[in-house]
Amino acid sequence: AVRGEGRELLAINPGTRQAIDTPVFNCATAVLVDRACALAEQAFDPLRATAPDTRARFLEAIADGLLELGSVLTERAHSETGLPMARLEGERGRTVGQLRLFASVLRQGRWHNATFDSALPDRQPLPRPDLRMCRVALGPVAIFGASNFPLAFSVAGGDTASALAAGCPVVFKAHRAHLGTAELVARVVQAASRRLALPAGTFSLVIGDGNDVGQQLVSHPAIKAVGFTGSRAGGLALIRAAAARAEPIPVYAEMSSINPVFLLPGALSARAGSIATAFVDALVMGAGQFCTNPGVVLGVEGPGLQAFLAQATAHLAQKAAQTMLTPGIHCAYEQGIERIAKHAEVEAIASGLSPAGATQAQAHLFQLTSAQVAANPGLLEEVFGPAAIVIRCQDTTEMLAFARSVEGQLTATLHLEEEDLPVARGVVQAMEKKAGRVLVNGFPTGVEVCDSMVHGGAYPATSDSRTTSVGSSAIERFLRPVCYQSVPDALLPEALKQGNPLGIWRQVDGQSRAP
Ligand code: NAP
Repeated sequence: AVRGEGRELLAINPGTRQAIDTPVFNCATAVLVDRACALAEQAFDPLRATAPDTRARFLEAIADGLLELGSVLTERAHSETGLPMARLEGERGRTVGQLRLFASVLRQGRWHNATFDSALPDRQPLPRPDLRMCRVALGPVAIFGASNFPLAFSVAGGDTASALAAGCPVVFKAHRAHLGTAELVARVVQAASRRLALPAGTFSLVIGDGNDVGQQLVSHPAIKAVGFTGSRAGGLALIRAAAARAEPIPVYAEMSSINPVFLLPGALSARAGSIATAFVDALVMGAGQFCTNPGVVLGVEGPGLQAFLAQATAHLAQKAAQTMLTPGIHCAYEQGIERIAKHAEVEAIASGLSPAGATQAQAHLFQLTSAQVAANPGLLEEVFGPAAIVIRCQDTTEMLAFARSVEGQLTATLHLEEEDLPVARGVVQAMEKKAGRVLVNGFPTGVEVCDSMVHGGAYPATSDSRTTSVGSSAIERFLRPVCYQSVPDALLPEALKQGNPLGIWRQVDGQSRAP
């Protein structure tokens, strides 16, 4: 609902490092950020009062609008991010599917978590009153788009879809890395909002460059929660800003993860070569710019690990360098590689093909022993891009020690055979305390959007390990439970009314009840 009036900005083509001439964007001034937040506040009551089916149709209209944009959307995203067209088509499909998933979540109704404890007027020594619980929307949400998914984690991505589904207006801070894509999608969201006659402040997009706009958003009293995907430093800055408010608010920040891959001895003896090929493919996918990129691999010394390294080295040597999302992200990658490579104990063992352009990332593989890692834990900081470290362990005890000491992760992967199960059990028990997703005999890069997905994990993977930013449970971040005690039917939310007007599943006195 709000257009910028501040400093002018142009999008950048990361492949050429040239500005894209049209359109010219404007950063939001402080006055405009304030207006966007005030409009969101005004929109909150009418939006949360809409029928879930209205919000479902809103999300479906956004999905339809994204498809109707056709190649205009993917071509713009391609020029701004350097991501291949096929990847962007796939990402649009995922984004559309995500919006439709939340529409079905709204209609199915379990998100209300409608729960009843019937009155027990004759209970001794005290009667029990009629108690009913359901979840209500938190309030306007500020969302920061991620650089690395210009569609699926951006303007109409999972954070926005889950917040709108919950009935929360959204003020979205566009990422500098894909301004034109952001504006195209924002227009689709606003057109859908108008079509459903939703209030003007249901959705606003603001642009900023530097931290001012983001800081103002998170500090604004109208904002009641924050969704963020990006760097650890950025996430922590927003958490601090949210905690320093007169009314502190939750920040759901997804930050950094190195996604360890444990190659257990049986798996390495059985199929080291095929694991190595699949690992390298996962490592370089999307120039390594995935939060679930496998950044650390552990194996026990022996012929299996040798075979793995030989095949990984040969396969990586054929991998072309790829354009990264922004010159800044490329620069951070180069610095990360330099930081690792110059370390005395690190050995560079393989590289991909040399870059042909200034923002292209060459893939790299390093190795060191688990004892060296234990002595230099700083080496395990996330390097965002196609680089990984192989940690050579003397035995599976060292592998287990790593699993017990590594910090929180989005994912943990095990490659195993039947004979590895005893060791695997220890690794799973250690990693389920810190990872959002544990997977076996695969690679973590693909994140399915579904009911059981968890894209989360202990800090620093996220700021709140109890939730997920992908999958239908993501809606829970923007809801809170309210208990209604002895409240007459006329005053209860629809989800809790006696006649079940929404026709939803409800839990009554401990039993799940169909509509
Ligand atoms: P970023 O620097 O954290 O920025 C993300 C968003 O947060 C931007 O809109 C940025 O806007 C805002 N922001 C950052 N710091 C802020 C602060 N102190 N106050 C207010 N707003 C702030 O992330 P990025 O630009 O996407 O990439 C940089 C690095 O993040 C990458 O090199 C990579 O290491 C990491 N990254 C990680 C993931 C992941 O999923 N783990 C994904 C993407 C990137 P302004 O710049 O306008 O303030």
